[in-house]
Amino acid sequence: MKRFSCGELVDLVTAYLENDLDDPTLRRLQEHLAGCEGCRRYLAQFRATVGALGALPPEPLAAPARERLLAAFRRRRRP
Ligand SMILES: [Zn+2]
Repeated sequence: MKRFSCGELVDLVTAYLENDLDDPTLRRLQEHLAGCEGCRRYLAQFRATVGALGALPPEPLAAPARERLLAAFRRRRRP
């Protein structure tokens, strides 16, 4: 099976944190993380940044509104 490059992982990290990856993609991403310290560090940093922004959001979306938005995206992508 084709391995993820670090660039592909970076592209998918947002979807990963939103739990928005399909199973095969998620598995490949996790395999890459297991073998790539750089990406593990990147992910930890990304999470920390998201956490910091979450505490001080520029334009906060109420959680229910955000959930509706995400659900709408999912429906559109996978009818
Ligand atoms: Zn990597």
